[in-house]
Amino acid sequence: STLQSPKSKISLDRLSAHLQEFLSIAANQAEQHGWHLYLVGGAVRDLLLTDSDQPVMLTDIDLVVDGFHRSADVGAGVELARSLQRLYPDVRLDIHGRFQTAALLWHKDPTFDSLWVDIATARTEFYPYPAANPEVEASSIRQDLYRRDFTINAMALRLTNPRFADTRKGPGELLDFFGGSLDLQAKQIRVLHPNSFIEDPTRIYRAVRFATRLGFEIEPQTERYIRHAIASGIYEQIQDRQVAGRVIAPALQTRLKSELKYILQSSYWKAALNQLAHLGALRCIHPKLELDDELRWQLRSADRWLHRLDRSQLLPSWQLLLEVLIAHLAPDDRASVAQNLQLSADGIDRLVQLEPVRSKLESLSISLSPSQIVQYLKPYELPLLILVAVKSSRAIRKQIWRYLTIWSTVKPPLDGNDLKALGYKPGRQFKQILDDLLSATLDGRVHDRAEAEAYLAQHHAPNS
Ligand code: ATP
Repeated sequence: STLQSPKSKISLDRLSAHLQEFLSIAANQAEQHGWHLYLVGGAVRDLLLTDSDQPVMLTDIDLVVDGFHRSADVGAGVELARSLQRLYPDVRLDIHGRFQTAALLWHKDPTFDSLWVDIATARTEFYPYPAANPEVEASSIRQDLYRRDFTINAMALRLTNPRFADTRKGPGELLDFFGGSLDLQAKQIRVLHPNSFIEDPTRIYRAVRFATRLGFEIEPQTERYIRHAIASGIYEQIQDRQVAGRVIAPALQTRLKSELKYILQSSYWKAALNQLAHLGALRCIHPKLELDDELRWQLRSADRWLHRLDRSQLLPSWQLLLEVLIAHLAPDDRASVAQNLQLSADGIDRLVQLEPVRSKLESLSISLSPSQIVQYLKPYELPLLILVAVKSSRAIRKQIWRYLTIWSTVKPPLDGNDLKALGYKPGRQFKQILDDLLSATLDGRVHDRAEAEAYLAQHHAPNS
């Protein structure tokens, strides 16, 4: 009943020997149960995409088992994963029962180094209403592929082809029901059906991610589906449901956040954001979010500050960029958007503090001395100061920059031991004296030990 494109074969011999062996063992196990096993998704795409003489390094593969299991509660995928775990005792097995999927994880393993294998059971997903979590039911591989995002990600390579079992390097049959290999050649991102983006709006972000990463184009009809989905206002509904605490939205928001993370931590984040904005897709984050020149500038400078200050270990830059995006909304909207996207508690806190801190700094006189500025900025951590800086006037921004690069590292020429040697009794006033000395140093009234001692003699007599 279904159309199938002409069969072709893909060789697995460009995969590492260990991975080829693993796939062959997995296929044997599946065959023993009378099931079929397929390599699907990104791995097939990458095998077709790379030059035929290049090795293909896969650290993350998706397998689909097509077959019924005697128990209604455990999918064939879970059962296969369990039997593979018996053969590979070092592997970690995670089971996500509701969706009949299992994951095998090798981490810093002598054989695989790092490998993540997801094993799913072929299934159909029904969407009882848009953007809902899928309901799962065992079904055939074609239906499994049909629920995927784009034609280039919806191809499968049959591993249980009898000819594959003959020889370890035997060719696998390519199942390409939707024209994925043609789209790979034509460099097109194409969905499988018109409702795809209404079912799952995060696919818009995925479309942009694959297009910018691979240098592909979003196929024109697919772009119209995106625009239609956005025009239909589904995102506003989702956000409302989310606020009302309905069960469906958190999963969607989690996936949206993880797509945003992928995009913002990539080297192509600027191009991807531009394309998302062009499609109107930033409305998925908030209906009023727009990528204007000001926001572009803020994103670039936040990123630059984080790297120049060489403190990206303090906060991953994708997180800071996401906070800058949210900070572009009106202050009253920021916290709820940050909560919806499940930002870290620190991130939510920063977005809440941003406005009061910014307006407090903005209200200060620009003729403050360095020590006064240090006094104001000291309570705040670097990530918040970067957010404040990109949202502030040039004058304030310069002060924050000087604080971060110079003033925050200044130390007075004398320390507590020096004070003791000079006859001061250790005690509460030590800190006060040292703070005072630091201020004098910051403001250029004290430059070295001699001046520090003279300053002390004048302002803090030892027996006071
Ligand atoms: P990458 O190289 O970025 O890991 P990938 O194709 O492996 O690319 P994943 O996000 O790991 O991407 O997803 C694996 C597969 O699962 C995809 O190839 C696609 O077939 C399917 N998939 C993932 N997310 C969705 C989605 N939101 N809707 C439909 N199918 C999806």
